[in-house]
Amino acid sequence: MTEQTGRGPEPAHERASATQVGARGPEGLPDEVGAEPGQADRATAGAGRPEAGVAVLPAFDDHHPPEQELIDDCVHCGFCLPTCPTYVLWGEEMDSPRGRIYLMEIGRQGEAMNDEMVRHFDQCLGCMACVTACPSGVQYGKLIEATRQQVERRYPRSRRDRAFRALIFRLFPYPRRLRLLRGPLRLYQRSGLGTLARRAGLLERLPRRLSAMERLVPDLGRPEPVPEVTPAVGPRRRRVGMLTGCVQRVFFPGVNAATARVLAADGCEVVTPRAQGCCGALSLHAGREAEAQGFARAAIETFEATGVDQVVVNAAGCGSAMKEYGHLLRDDPVFAERARAFSEKVRDLSELLVELGPVAPRHPLPMKVAWHDACHLGHAQGIRAQPRAALRAIPGLELREIAESEICCGSAGIYNLVEPEPAAELGDRKAANVLATGADLLVTSNPGCLLQLRNALERRGRHLAMAHVAEVLDAAVRGADPASLLARD
Ligand code: SF4
Ligand code: SF4
Repeated sequence: MTEQTGRGPEPAHERASATQVGARGPEGLPDEVGAEPGQADRATAGAGRPEAGVAVLPAFDDHHPPEQELIDDCVHCGFCLPTCPTYVLWGEEMDSPRGRIYLMEIGRQGEAMNDEMVRHFDQCLGCMACVTACPSGVQYGKLIEATRQQVERRYPRSRRDRAFRALIFRLFPYPRRLRLLRGPLRLYQRSGLGTLARRAGLLERLPRRLSAMERLVPDLGRPEPVPEVTPAVGPRRRRVGMLTGCVQRVFFPGVNAATARVLAADGCEVVTPRAQGCCGALSLHAGREAEAQGFARAAIETFEATGVDQVVVNAAGCGSAMKEYGHLLRDDPVFAERARAFSEKVRDLSELLVELGPVAPRHPLPMKVAWHDACHLGHAQGIRAQPRAALRAIPGLELREIAESEICCGSAGIYNLVEPEPAAELGDRKAANVLATGADLLVTSNPGCLLQLRNALERRGRHLAMAHVAEVLDAAVRGADPASLLARD
């Protein structure tokens, strides 16, 4: 049974309990890394964050709470701390992987789930840098996924928070709804209204999350439809399905068109089912379990019907989620096995291209390129070498590494919408590191990262051409004028 207590704008007794949650360090931790009482309140962001003033007892129910065995894998060594973006920002134990695992532990032991605890979970970017860094193999991804599902199912977020999240989740996973926005957004951008609103400081008067949303809208180009079947150039080596994504499809249609051309040039027949919808990544990473499962089942059915050998994904967050379908649908008697089989077929674009080996000659692109590892590609899928190898195969292209490449840019699914302040700080940090490379072009594999970094560069008054890796490979295969890439936003 769930007990909720302390509803109210500023429930002092709940705040006291919340401080205790952030104040106790895990047993056995060195003193210097334990948080002091109340430090969480001072050290972490969260001012202006809508909070509910509620404590839920017990914190977790019996439906897949964070697993004790996985929690016990953490030996509190702290190797993960320097790569955790929120720990890097605030130096707060409860905003580190180790601290969050500790909160899961005390939640299991009977501590209430309250605003403070939820805040530390919410402020996790889900970037999985801790998974890469952890020498003990802690499966933090499974832990935070289970915890987020508990939060979303049990914790009554404030009305303001619920309304904003409802807006996001009724819009972004639905390409048709997003497409309806294209016209008004293009009018807003082309009429100069957006520029006027910024100059007049009107955006500053919007609620901070809405203002963050406005700043992240990309410049909208013309739609570029992808045929339902793109034949292989030359002998067919593979028949692959392509996920077109939601944000990718509507806001970056050129990326899907480029992906299909590159795959076809390297001998793949590319099937792009019209009926496909959202893969569920945004919902999965936000703890909306039932919604994510619904999207996953639909995606499995859609691609199963095509009989393709593999399913190719060009958005890191989507690929990472689709590789987890087996885990997401493990309790479903109809889909569990199908989901496992499906996940095994999923490949990131660069992963498949390197697996196949290039067939189409690459024309020179003499330029300096900074490669940005999207967290859901590098950390969550362990794919770092393949995009670099695919880019290095282009004659004349010089690859430059970005310092602190393991630290998230702050995009992280919906993170830059719901937690705009830390997201902006991380964006600024990444933008500075990108500029320091002296590259002509920034290349990555995730639409969210492209939006986040463009926004961060704009804040610094700087411009740098950006492209998805598929667009660079496509330009090399087609022998496009390198200036066409460098002239891009
Ligand atoms: S997923 Fe990222 S933000 Fe969250 S605890 Fe791990 S490193 Fe920190
Ligand atoms: S590196 Fe792994 S074992 Fe060490 S504190 Fe971090 S999560 Fe725990």
